[in-house]
Amino acid sequence: MNKRVKSLFMAFTIAVSSITLSGMSAGMKSSAMTNDEEETIVYSQEEMYALEQKIKDQNSLLRKGKDKDEFTVVIDAGHGGRDFGAVNKSKDITEKFINLSLANYVRQNLEAKGVNVIMTRTTDVFVPLKNRSAIANAADADLFVSIHNDSGSSTSKGAHVIYSYEDRYGLSKKMANRIVNSIDEKTIQEKRKSNPVWTRTSHGHDYYSVLRHTDMPAVIVEHSYINNNNLRAVGTDKRRREMAKAVADGIYDTMTTDCKGLTRVRGKYVYYNKDKEAVRGCWVKDGKNQKYLRRNGYLAKGWLNIKGNLYYFNKANVMLTGEQRIDGKTYIFDSNGVLIK
Ligand SMILES: [Zn+2]
Repeated sequence: MNKRVKSLFMAFTIAVSSITLSGMSAGMKSSAMTNDEEETIVYSQEEMYALEQKIKDQNSLLRKGKDKDEFTVVIDAGHGGRDFGAVNKSKDITEKFINLSLANYVRQNLEAKGVNVIMTRTTDVFVPLKNRSAIANAADADLFVSIHNDSGSSTSKGAHVIYSYEDRYGLSKKMANRIVNSIDEKTIQEKRKSNPVWTRTSHGHDYYSVLRHTDMPAVIVEHSYINNNNLRAVGTDKRRREMAKAVADGIYDTMTTDCKGLTRVRGKYVYYNKDKEAVRGCWVKDGKNQKYLRRNGYLAKGWLNIKGNLYYFNKANVMLTGEQRIDGKTYIFDSNGVLIK
């Protein structure tokens, strides 16, 4: 991507953060934010829509500069500014610092492979949870990865990844497994013994804000427990570089192995074409069958008018050809599926 466009976008992202930061008092409860569970800032739907529109307008510039074979991955460094996250008091180390360091190295690794990366923060600033997902949605990102570290008992250890429940049959769970296995294989950190990959719901939806509000496959990576000895996995610059490379490899493997052809995302579909673009509103080949992926993310079923021609898709979303009986009447379709009579 064009560097000027990218810096414009980053500047705008930061501008959006500070706009909302200054205007925050109205919708904000008083308690300080300490972790993901305590979501203290509540925006109305209108405020969120306005924010997304603002970023979208700016983003039309960004998409023009995007190469066709580039995926867009959002790397979200958890916490920041007045929100410290987990803390190791004896070593005077905060989660927000470790997260940002890891996130910047993940970005470097992905960009070196030609991946388009958008950061939700690049400095030690507070970014509200909903702004993080709004940035990802507005950028129409392919994948979202939130970078965190945990706090547990004195013996807690191991990496674990939380995936989006609402995308549990899609890419989120696959990406979670790829990342945690890559950490296990390529760093001194192991994956957590119990539930190295897990998900959590509240009222049938994702419990964690960034998983609930993002439109694309999304995970939260908990790289280590920083309140005890497990800090060693991310406690030095060398270890963070190793860790970030392992995470970037997991993300890259997801992109190159799982983001292919007709791909399920949050109960809907996208089609990854030859240029590795995620597209909708297009014909897709699914095995031997011809299907049509509508702009709304659902596969066509029943009658559909496409560019002036009528087609019929059966219950399995397969386009029909030849002579067919539909609702008690006989119809004839040509070999391309177009209704003749
Ligand atoms: Zn955290």
